[in-house]
Amino acid sequence: MTKTKTTDYEITDYGIDNADSFQGHGTSFTRFEHCALGCGDSYGEALEDALDSAAQYGFDIELSPEDEPAQPANNAVSAWEYHCQHCEEEDHENCESNLYYYVGLRWN
Ligand SMILES: [Zn+2]
Repeated sequence: MTKTKTTDYEITDYGIDNADSFQGHGTSFTRFEHCALGCGDSYGEALEDALDSAAQYGFDIELSPEDEPAQPANNAVSAWEYHCQHCEEEDHENCESNLYYYVGLRWN
């Protein structure tokens, strides 16, 4: 399948949120036609996830270099590290974290 290449995109950094309370991501009231929501342990992982979804819809989103998921700055805080900073347990072995990093992607 040939993918449609596009550089017309917008990234929304939702940060770390709980899977149960996350509000969702759409295209209403935006100028964009398509959207995908990615989740992962970090910004970079979540963005990869969103890009994968876009690829499944048949789009190849060409990111600017500073938006690349592999950028170190994009992986600064992970959802798990965030958990460990805010959880009161000493041993996190039995913790179930419901926290994920969310990144929304919209494109035309
Ligand atoms: Zn914990």
